[in-house]
Amino acid sequence: MADTVAVWTVMAQCIAAGLVAGLCVLHTVWRGDDPANEHSRWTLIWSMALAAVFFCDALALASRGSSWHDPFTVLASVALAVALVLALPVARSYADGPPFRTYLVLASAGFAVHVGLLVAGAVTARAEPRTTALETTGGVISFLVPAAVVGLYLAVSLRRTPSQRTRQALVGAASLSVVLLGASYLAPSETVRTALTSAWLVPLIIALEILALRRIRYGQHLAEQQRSMRDAQARVSNLAWYVRDPQALLRRAEEEARALLGDPTIRGTIRTLSRGRFVTDLSPYPLVRTDPGDRKLLVALANIVSAAAERQALADRLSRAAFSDALTGLPNRNAIDEHLVSALERGSVERSRVALLYADLDGFKRANDQYGHAWGDRILALAAAHLRRTVGDDAFVARLGGDEFIIVVERAGDDEELVRLAHRIRTEFQRTSQARPIPRISVGITATVPSDTVDAEALTRCADIAMLEAKRVKAGVMLFDKRLEDQVAAENRLHREINAAVQEEQFCVHFQPIVDTVTLAVLGLEALARWEFGGELREPKEWLDYAETSGLIVAIGNMTFRKAFAATERFDLPVAINLSARQLAEPSLIGDLTAAWGTRDWSLLTVEITEGALLQDEQQAVSVLGRLRGRGARIALDDFGTGYNSLARLATLPIDILKIDQSFVRDMASPAGLAVLRAIVTLAGAHDLEVVAEGIERVSELEGLVSLGVRRAQGNMLGRPAAALPVR
Ligand code: C2E
Ligand code: MG
Ligand code: MG
Repeated sequence: MADTVAVWTVMAQCIAAGLVAGLCVLHTVWRGDDPANEHSRWTLIWSMALAAVFFCDALALASRGSSWHDPFTVLASVALAVALVLALPVARSYADGPPFRTYLVLASAGFAVHVGLLVAGAVTARAEPRTTALETTGGVISFLVPAAVVGLYLAVSLRRTPSQRTRQALVGAASLSVVLLGASYLAPSETVRTALTSAWLVPLIIALEILALRRIRYGQHLAEQQRSMRDAQARVSNLAWYVRDPQALLRRAEEEARALLGDPTIRGTIRTLSRGRFVTDLSPYPLVRTDPGDRKLLVALANIVSAAAERQALADRLSRAAFSDALTGLPNRNAIDEHLVSALERGSVERSRVALLYADLDGFKRANDQYGHAWGDRILALAAAHLRRTVGDDAFVARLGGDEFIIVVERAGDDEELVRLAHRIRTEFQRTSQARPIPRISVGITATVPSDTVDAEALTRCADIAMLEAKRVKAGVMLFDKRLEDQVAAENRLHREINAAVQEEQFCVHFQPIVDTVTLAVLGLEALARWEFGGELREPKEWLDYAETSGLIVAIGNMTFRKAFAATERFDLPVAINLSARQLAEPSLIGDLTAAWGTRDWSLLTVEITEGALLQDEQQAVSVLGRLRGRGARIALDDFGTGYNSLARLATLPIDILKIDQSFVRDMASPAGLAVLRAIVTLAGAHDLEVVAEGIERVSELEGLVSLGVRRAQGNMLGRPAAALPVR
């Protein structure tokens, strides 16, 4: 009977060891998802230790070791001691038990004594194979005491286990194990004792493994849920870049939260705080306490929606700022470009006309300086409102910048209709406000021909040209027509030609003599630039404006200085050169002039500048002229009388000579004109300025000047500009 029990007990032990080892393998595979799980790690270690216990027990039984001193029994006891000590960290990880160091030390010490006794017994058993009752009692006590320490720790830990079911399962299983263990010591027969000794741990192991596996499944479920939550957040985050409407994004976040948490009552609200801030709330309705993990998801989704709403609001603000003008609230230059391109596209698809009106306030810049910027801002706002009102809702009104406005009319009517609209814009502006002064508006109009393809830039340029022409001829309204188109084409041609002419040095100098009005002796020469083009000469009036605005006059000037000064040496006469405002502003002017003049006597050089040039950047002009004067050159004020300044003021500037414009010479025929000329000559004398009269064409003019005491004059009658020294 004993043998039979031993055999099936050994088999049962081996099967249990195998089962537990199998569970360990399963455990390892499942916990692969969650390697950081503390419970599963300790359960695995402990399960392996228990498998070892079963295995060692089986070995002990198989070797028929019923004595305490049998080596395999000692090994089984050591395995059991180790398993029990390992129960401490297992319990801590399961039940959040208290620190177990003291228990560990006590239990380890007790088991060490137990194992020591067993080993000592095994050694003495060689001589005396019988086990005494004292030895048996010592062995039992040395095992039960540390086991009780472990049991105590387990009991303390179990009380702290949060889950009721876990606690009940562990208490039940542990109680059963303890009962079996106690029963094994009280068993009446050796066979039953052996069977109970091998089986007492089984309930506890089964309970722990079930719990461990449940924990692992739960951990996997949690990991899965967290992954789904992360995926849901990522989906809403991605969507936030495409969905521009925060409400639509909120609906999507609601759907994700409902699907994930299985709660169809979840609702979202979004509220605006001050300064573009938003607050979003996602929660079940009516409000109930939610699991912290679920709450975290709801908060994360709500934050995504709030951030997207704020980003969208910021983008809207920036785009409004980028596309609208802060002062007038009208669309700005960026918006015009966009609108015009799409309007032209629509026009070409519909084969309809697109008209562009370019409106500009007359004399605004000067008035703005005169009346102050507050006045200027008010006028611009008035003009914007007036344009909006006059053109109606169908047309697009925008501020191009400064005092320039653009009106785009799609499906525009005929030219007469557009001109009528422009006249209404011009005339009705005066009546918009009592505020005075109110500048007038000049309007340039252009419209596409449905069959033509025209780009936005070209259309704006045409309307601008028409507006400038309207100002120039003081018509107020001007349509960009064939005549203006030809004019623009001619200008473009001229611009191309003059650029090439500068490259090829096609500029030369003609000289006009400055003559003594009494003796008619040539006193000096004025160098005048000429452009040799295709065998003919082009005079400055044809190209000077463009040369100045484009800056080409600097290169042309340098060319003419050199040629003029070389010729002066040939003629052995003083020379006068002309400088424009653009040249005066050029930092290299003095250097260029000095290089061209060389070592000649500076008193032989006169520099002529017009009033306009002198007054454009007065400080800079005065400084440059002062330096030239310092070297000995003389400064002449050219075309005097065509500007706005009084002679008294001009006399404070660094000038030596006054060149009276030919219009005054012409007017000398009338008594009033003569009186004006006399006054100028007298004033010039009073300021110690030398006078030169320009444009003498008649003998009577020369005689008149002589009688007024003007000693120097210039004019076609006295000598036309020519390449060589004119013959008197
Ligand atoms: P400006 O300095 O007043 O030159 C006198 C202009 O009057 C010259 O015109 C000359 O040809 C013209 N003129 C001379 N006598 C008579 C006359 O009896 N009757 C009439 N109707 N006109 C007469 P031009 O050469 O066409 O020069 C025009 C202006 O261009 C010059 O006026 C001067 O301001 C400017 N200019 C000429 N050459 C240069 C130059 O090299 N550089 C710069 N910056 N300006 C120049
Ligand atoms: Mg001149
Ligand atoms: Mg002149």
